[in-house]
Amino acid sequence: MLRRLMVQASNNQRCRCLLTPHSSLLFQQRSSSSSSFTSPSQIETSTSVEQLESSNPSPKTSPLPSSSISVDRSGLYNPPEHSHEPSSDSELVKHLKGIIKFRGGPISVAEYMEEVLTNPKAGFYINRDVFGAGGDFITSPEVSQMFGEMIGVWAMSLWEQMGQPTRVNLIELGPGRGTLMADLLRGASKFKKFTDSLNIHMVECSPTLQKLQYDRLKCIDEDSSDVSVEKRIISALSRTPVSWHATLEQVPAGSPTIIIAHEFFDALPVHQFQRASRGWCEKMIDVAEDSSFNFVLSPQPTPATLFLMKRCKWAAAEEIAKLGQIEVCPKAMELTQTITKRISSDGGGALIIDYGLNGLVSDSLQAIRKHKFVDILDNPGSADLSAYVDFASIRHSAEEVSEDVSVHGPITQSQFLGSLGINFRFEALLENCKTDEQEESLMTGYWQLVGEGEAQFWEGPEEKTPIGMGTRYLAMAIVNKKQGIPVPFQ
Ligand code: SAH
Repeated sequence: MLRRLMVQASNNQRCRCLLTPHSSLLFQQRSSSSSSFTSPSQIETSTSVEQLESSNPSPKTSPLPSSSISVDRSGLYNPPEHSHEPSSDSELVKHLKGIIKFRGGPISVAEYMEEVLTNPKAGFYINRDVFGAGGDFITSPEVSQMFGEMIGVWAMSLWEQMGQPTRVNLIELGPGRGTLMADLLRGASKFKKFTDSLNIHMVECSPTLQKLQYDRLKCIDEDSSDVSVEKRIISALSRTPVSWHATLEQVPAGSPTIIIAHEFFDALPVHQFQRASRGWCEKMIDVAEDSSFNFVLSPQPTPATLFLMKRCKWAAAEEIAKLGQIEVCPKAMELTQTITKRISSDGGGALIIDYGLNGLVSDSLQAIRKHKFVDILDNPGSADLSAYVDFASIRHSAEEVSEDVSVHGPITQSQFLGSLGINFRFEALLENCKTDEQEESLMTGYWQLVGEGEAQFWEGPEEKTPIGMGTRYLAMAIVNKKQGIPVPFQ
């Protein structure tokens, strides 16, 4: 995301460790656990993920039965004194604290991230337009029309390789304002055979963004006097039917499919692990005594540890040994497998563009509010949370479930857009510019998409110097082998 232009925020969040030795009940005993937290810097480090297995706690033993019954009430929950002071906590903060309280212990970073971004009432994405200068961050489709147009070139080329089917599901995951799809359809509108084949499916959890997408695609509700026929929504940009879904699974299967995921995977919840003397511990989020959120380390393997072990099996020992922290994203693994199965059975392919690494990701989760980095735990729901995408994990997840697909890339966004012909498009648009402002905006957008670092041509205010993201963003394709190698991955 262009939000990634900003320098990585220093990671100075407080993180504490739960070091209670007999920990199997620890998450049910928060009130007594806080005194045993230890700072992560005091934790001895270890080197191998195998320690996960050895760090399993021994089974809890029952106390010997005694002849007289005595009830130990010391562990019972002792609620704080009732207060009539109005709480300044937002609805989302109350909700998160409620989960931690009723669960009787901390929640994973992934659970926190998921609630913060997509809680149906108060999630970051749910009730507002977060994009653009007036929002929290800006994305490539919002920077230049050339981005959506080039994705359109990619989709059309794949459609050619698919044998120009007459019915295609074009699915976009997390379409934001709908700008990418609108530019794709406008750019492709001369290729009627292609646009006529399309059924567009927008996978979007936010009702507010769904409405923006409807407007951006110039949608109209089709008039039909026949009550037996289901009413359709049509994009006036290409006379193409459009529908919305909360998840990919809800999109009807059975037709050849093209899937686009731009900056979707980075919004999927990640689990964070930290190396400690007893092995890898999951970083969790708790409520401190002063009622703020803080990080703690799990004292024992958590369910997500299975995903850490799976991910580490795909990595070389030296890659793991270098890291003190690892992020894993089970939702990305699962989504990749859903995409792969769909492409395997229906034909077609998927394009994933995001920032990230072609290997293990260490500690990348960050929060951005109004174009500035903020603390991840500060006022949740008011800032975007995102993490680097682990492209190697996507590759392995895809290859694990099907032999009918091939995975290509990642290559840099700059290579991807360059090979698809963005330079020609840029020159054509430049010739059509009528004002200096138009020219400047076109050049700025072009640089942001394919350049690297600060733009040398810039003569405006220093703080507005365009920064190129061409090598920070990566593109990967998963396609049905029947389609051959997709452009421009040959
Ligand atoms: N692709 C767009 C927007 C990226 S932001 C662009 O490049 O401009 C992430 C998008 O994914 C938003 O539209 C957000 O509402 C949506 N989203 C995030 N998590 C989601 C989830 N779990 N299910 C469906 N949509 C989600």
